[in-house]
Amino acid sequence: MACGAALRAHAKVTILESVKVVREIGAAVHLAPNATRIIKALGGDLLKYGAPNVKMFKTFQPDGTPLIAVPSGTDDGENQWLLNHRVDVLEELKELATRENGPGRPCELVLNTRVVGCDPEAGTVTTSTGEVYTADIIIASDGIKSAVRSSIVGDSLNSVPSGHSAYRMLIPASKINSDPELAALKITDPNLTIIYGNGRRIICYPCRNQTILNFVCILPDSELNEISEEKWTAKGDVASLVKSYSSFAPVYQKLLGTADEVGLWQLRDQEPLHKWTKGRAILLGDAAHAMLPHQGQGASQAIEDAEAIGALLQNVSPADVPATLEEIFRIRYKRATMTQQQSRLAGLGSASRGTGDEVVKQMEAHAMNQFEFKHFTWQYRGAKDWKENHPEHVLQV
Ligand SMILES: Cc1cc2nc3c(=O)[nH]c(=O)nc-3n(C[C@H](O)[C@H](O)[C@H](O)COP(=O)(O)OP(=O)(O)OC[C@H]3O[C@@H](n4cnc5c(N)ncnc54)[C@H](O)[C@@H]3O)c2cc1C
Repeated sequence: MACGAALRAHAKVTILESVKVVREIGAAVHLAPNATRIIKALGGDLLKYGAPNVKMFKTFQPDGTPLIAVPSGTDDGENQWLLNHRVDVLEELKELATRENGPGRPCELVLNTRVVGCDPEAGTVTTSTGEVYTADIIIASDGIKSAVRSSIVGDSLNSVPSGHSAYRMLIPASKINSDPELAALKITDPNLTIIYGNGRRIICYPCRNQTILNFVCILPDSELNEISEEKWTAKGDVASLVKSYSSFAPVYQKLLGTADEVGLWQLRDQEPLHKWTKGRAILLGDAAHAMLPHQGQGASQAIEDAEAIGALLQNVSPADVPATLEEIFRIRYKRATMTQQQSRLAGLGSASRGTGDEVVKQMEAHAMNQFEFKHFTWQYRGAKDWKENHPEHVLQV
């Protein structure tokens, strides 16, 4: 949807989507300034959904001892770090892509259409019903289980279990604030809070005018009291979740126990791909650079990809598309790969699996601390600016 929103001014866009109805599965997603700036530039407004702008970043030990509390520095109007319900982000991007009164032409959204194959040189994709779509540009943003990846990189290079899983749930703020002990935690304030230790962490933040609390609880698979799967819709068990956090203070166990239902997601890791493009096709988003969620940058990087598509594919003749897609890859690759690797390094325990990729080796040698990484990700001003002002982070021809 973000690619459609960015490209509609310059091309006739058709979006093939496998689901019957565009809707996100529960939970929330925080978007850092590098992404919110792009959405704003596309004409989007996430504030209208009541997305809080992070005021403080706070961490605590499992027994409740405060560790750090730093202002986010995002109250200047330009740098918004927004806490969003996923449904709202998707709704806004869909609106930007398909509204009548946007730039160029509205994207055509074709639902219930699963792509099963792609011929990058011919510029065609084939759907599960045998229909063939032809285009000058094929953007494969079909997620971590991409059906198109193998036709571009020559191998499916599937993701592997990272050794960690995440419980995810949304809890009404009213339920938390009606209990004085839980209300005293003040976690419905517009902050991003992490409680971590003993090899696990709880990340929580509010969304939708602070009426809903989002939780992501990450822990090693070996410490789970149930089996996780790589399925966004897989359900977990609240009692098992609470048991997995029995080494945390009773108030945190009580907090997790207020959930009516939880999702349980196996976190998977993806090696950097050696290429994202072939002919007229390019992989973007999780299909190109799926990353662990420890830095909360996966969706933000996908939105950066979309901006690059809109910025570089202007006035490009069909004959020049393959070269332009290569250029987009060169601008985006190091940045996305460094973010992917930094997300690994921020994981719990030995999340880094010692890949042989050159960019990753450089990253490991110059691992950024949290503040450097925040600067690296947040300062982004679009693909053209990155190419011009950060050549050290761009693959050279
Ligand atoms: C626990 C967890 C927490 C996270 N938190 C954050 C966060 O706070 N901030 C952040 O920036 N990122 C976060 N992420 C990462 C983020 O969710 C992903 O990086 C992001 O959703 C990737 O977007 P995408 O469009 O590339 O892929 P997806 O969101 O997977 O979208 C792929 C789309 O393609 C469609 N599709 C799939 N296959 C086909 C096919 N064959 N044919 C047609 N359509 C198809 C799907 O239906 C879907 O609509 C988190 C991830 C996890 C696991």
